[in-house]
Amino acid sequence: MRDKIVAGNWKMNNNLPESITLLEALKKNEMHSEVKVMVAPSFPLLFPVKEMLKVSDIEVIAQNCNAHKQGAHTGEVAASMLTSIGVKTVIIGHSERRHLYNESDDLLAEKVNTALDESMQIIFCVGEELEARKANRQNETIKSQLENSLFHLNAEQMKKVIIAYEPVWAIGTGETATPEQAQEMHEFIRQQITERFDADLSENTSILYGGSVKPNNAKELFSKPDVDGGLIGGASLKADDFSAIINAF
Ligand code: PEP
Repeated sequence: MRDKIVAGNWKMNNNLPESITLLEALKKNEMHSEVKVMVAPSFPLLFPVKEMLKVSDIEVIAQNCNAHKQGAHTGEVAASMLTSIGVKTVIIGHSERRHLYNESDDLLAEKVNTALDESMQIIFCVGEELEARKANRQNETIKSQLENSLFHLNAEQMKKVIIAYEPVWAIGTGETATPEQAQEMHEFIRQQITERFDADLSENTSILYGGSVKPNNAKELFSKPDVDGGLIGGASLKADDFSAIINAF
């Protein structure tokens, strides 16, 4: 059975008082216990948020890490620093990192290797831009992102990877992929994993959808057989919306 996961990516939002308010509200809400819930605050908030969530089942994860193990990289954060404070999962390849910070497939492959060397679990994001979707090149785009940054791994390493399909045209735009478009791509991704590794590994890999998931569209998206949850941006900043999305399973 694959894990059902709902992960909230706070991006560069929520300072300490705002995080406290959000978490207090979140802890009051009932949430489906069979869903793994994660939140990704920014680096300085990882430790305090972990402390605040000590007695809850919500996992605190990181939004990014550096490709290098340590050294002269002012302003950067190493995977080993994350694990040293008990953060076990990291998002790699978010489209904002790819596009705003020019992170290439090769760099992302290095980050994946470094995170795996630290035994971290990875939420690896893939997604096509609008141009590619319009030209019906979404499958080849996703295939090359997978091949370039993930398919050098061995099967044991790949077991530590969760995929998030996030069409760039749907992130923060209010435009969501239809449940059918999401299902089609998730099935395609699963097929790529089967071809590169095997059906067993592919069947056990959670594939999340991200891109304007809201309480009013989550149920339909999550009802698709290959959609195992969501990576949520904007709606994860509101406790009631985030809880409603978790409870949409
Ligand atoms: C995201 O940033 O991963 C995301 C999916 O954002 P939003 O839900 O706001 O579209």
